[in-house]
Amino acid sequence: MSKYDIIIAGSGLGGLECAAILSKEGYNVCVLEKNVLFGGCLQTYKRKGHLLDTGIHYIGSLDDGQIMNQYFKYFGIIDKLKMKRLDTDSFDTIFYKNKIYNYAVGHDNFADTLSNSFPHERENLKSYVSALKEVGRLIDIDTLKKGIIAQNGMKYFYASAANTIADTVNDETLKNVLAATSMLYGGIENMSTFYHHAMINNSYIESPYRFMDGTMQIADRLIEVIRTNGGTVLNNKEITRLIVTDNEVTAAEVNNEEIFEADHFISNIHPKRTLEILDKSRYIKNAYISRINALPNSFGIFTLYLVMKPNTYPYINSNYYVHGTDNVWYNHDSSRNKVNNALLCFQCNNNSNYTDVISVMSCMYMSELKEWEHTSVGKRGNDYITFKKDYSNKLLEFLKTKGFDFTDKVESMYTTTPLSYRDYTGTPYGSAYGIIKDYKFPEIGFISTKTKLKNLYFTGQNMNVHGALGVTLTAMFTCSDFVGQEYLAKKVGNA
Ligand SMILES: Cc1cc2nc3c(=O)[nH]c(=O)nc-3n(C[C@H](O)[C@H](O)[C@H](O)COP(=O)(O)OP(=O)(O)OC[C@H]3O[C@@H](n4cnc5c(N)ncnc54)[C@H](O)[C@@H]3O)c2cc1C
Repeated sequence: MSKYDIIIAGSGLGGLECAAILSKEGYNVCVLEKNVLFGGCLQTYKRKGHLLDTGIHYIGSLDDGQIMNQYFKYFGIIDKLKMKRLDTDSFDTIFYKNKIYNYAVGHDNFADTLSNSFPHERENLKSYVSALKEVGRLIDIDTLKKGIIAQNGMKYFYASAANTIADTVNDETLKNVLAATSMLYGGIENMSTFYHHAMINNSYIESPYRFMDGTMQIADRLIEVIRTNGGTVLNNKEITRLIVTDNEVTAAEVNNEEIFEADHFISNIHPKRTLEILDKSRYIKNAYISRINALPNSFGIFTLYLVMKPNTYPYINSNYYVHGTDNVWYNHDSSRNKVNNALLCFQCNNNSNYTDVISVMSCMYMSELKEWEHTSVGKRGNDYITFKKDYSNKLLEFLKTKGFDFTDKVESMYTTTPLSYRDYTGTPYGSAYGIIKDYKFPEIGFISTKTKLKNLYFTGQNMNVHGALGVTLTAMFTCSDFVGQEYLAKKVGNA
């Protein structure tokens, strides 16, 4: 039996960042991960020598002096990451109603570039980027230096992303172009907050980066930091029970047999799943459990990996968002059983002029996979294989109608569905981004990093904003419960 200061359940970005911060602060931490591979959505797996990214395809604000750069600098990993900055003139390319629109890096450049297509909207586009900047400023390095992780941005949580865009620009096409990347935050037209829209878009406009040879390197570098600081990171350790005595967790039971003890526990596992493995306690009320279980989660993602024949498809230093309907939002009814949209990300290896893997992603709800809901990895049957093949063909057909013909260029194909994410990362319903906030009542969707058990904490994408940036901010909040917000924020801000 081992005893630690802090056990961290799950090695997603959130778990690893908490472990890195707290091990730097002298805590004896232990990360327990259920899978063979560490990293959760940072995992990159290999098929026939090709690297396939699972959950993070690009990260923003990584230029020197920007917020993610500062966090990675504080962790001591920024100089060790192999990254490629996406094209300045078009880091995201939007295909909408048979026309192409470019998202450019830099706020002024972004507004100028779209003004070329929408000259009558130039002033409105300036207002739009100013609004994004304002939200970005809530979490900038100056804020950290003042000892604050994030300034209060509640008013942006109460604002609808779709309505704010509609209030800022007039042109219907432009409204859709500005919402065209909402797949990145599980965008739902009558639900998504402007906070999410702005935080994520602002960060990419500041500087978008892709990871050469996969995003797994972020997990690997963080694990090196944790181990250098004396921490323990273990794989194949599924936490099957969190043992509670009175008002605290005393141990984690792993794989139904091993016991790991600690003074404190941080769960990087989805709160709904955490509560399922947590012993019943009078301190965790049924009303709290019901509330967490009732919170809506975002849609999932179907990914088709196209492994390309050598030197057949040029490497493209931009992401392609391809839309097949007039309304770009991923609303449930419009996406069910249909392929209306796709995001194409091109794997970047060794600065080659050709790409070897194209990840084609499309949003998918669990209801489309109902038949296989009770199955597990590798045991879903032939019908499931046929479903994935058919869906892949639909995706390829859809892309063909939009001018992307991969015929004769593809060597092999692999797929993942929301069920893969559910079974690998433990995200309920295979949701890509976890619990989503509704601008009509955002406070309902907030879950505190503290729980009613005195030594159990939460971290990860479900608390606040998802994605690399959101998860990092939440890791900071979780760790503030141990070392104090002012101290930690200043330490990162002055790193
Ligand atoms: C397809 C897709 C594309 C995305 N693209 C981007 C992008 O381009 N940029 C971006 O910033 N974000 C992107 N995201 C979002 C981003 O990946 C997530 O917000 C983020 O990685 C979540 O990190 P996390 O630490 O909260 O959770 P996770 O990465 O889900 O980690 C949770 C960890 O807990 C482990 N675990 C679960 N149960 C147990 C248990 N019982 N015992 C032990 N361990 C357990 C899991 O195995 C996992 O390792 C994307 C997500 C998806 C799904």
